[in-house]
Amino acid sequence: MTKSFANTDYYVLENVNLSIQRGEFFILLGPSGCGKSTLLNIVSGFIEKSAGEMSVDEEEVHKPGRNRGVVFQQADAALFPWLTVKENVEFGLKMKKVPKNTREQASAHYINVVGLQGHEGKFPRELSGGMKQRVQLARVLANDPDILLMDEPFGALDAMTRRTMQTELVRIWKETNKTVIFVTHDIQEALLLGQKVGVMSVGPSSNIETIYDISLPYPRSFSDKEFSLLY
Ligand code: ATP
Ligand code: MG
Repeated sequence: MTKSFANTDYYVLENVNLSIQRGEFFILLGPSGCGKSTLLNIVSGFIEKSAGEMSVDEEEVHKPGRNRGVVFQQADAALFPWLTVKENVEFGLKMKKVPKNTREQASAHYINVVGLQGHEGKFPRELSGGMKQRVQLARVLANDPDILLMDEPFGALDAMTRRTMQTELVRIWKETNKTVIFVTHDIQEALLLGQKVGVMSVGPSSNIETIYDISLPYPRSFSDKEFSLLY
């Protein structure tokens, strides 16, 4: 699969071949500017690839009916500013005409999961960056997608909240068997969360170079020495 943007004469992604199986927790790791968000946006269908095939769990990703949930790098771009926390979380369910009480049950549950109870009636402008990111996360989880696409979802969170969210995400993944594609430039986060880690290189052809298959059980911890061996 290849991607170049209009009015540019270079490829952001060149011959990227990535195979992700159903139910896998896949981490895409790479430095800033290598094309991680571009790749994720192609998988989510927000931008078009230039050429080639793109499939996740062996089905073409753009096939109608694939239920994808996306957590964007920028929470501001994802939330509706005129809706409250609760209304933002319930938005997708309302579109799908899910009955009011089921909707309210789901939003109450996931608002609780992300630790935003007591903030249901607030508007995005009244929240911090990390809180907005958690609203996004609650909304995506409430929609119960088959494929969860997350673009540095915990980057704006403080260390404690990030740890809680990471644990919660692994728990949800294990319970629901969702396919997760998680983008990060944080090697520590990649090793703590991922089942497989694909490393994307920066440069004119952003191939995914190495795929590490991590079979250690959760919860994981690595010593500084172990981390240093990876660089
Ligand atoms: P970060 O970790 O900083 O979020 P990233 O790996 O997500 O980086 P991308 O946002 O995918 O990187 O960008 C990859 C490359 O594509 C960059 O060189 C960027 O300048 C270029 N690019 C991204 N969007 C566009 C666009 N709409 N038009 C032209 N070039 C673009
Ligand atoms: Mg990005």
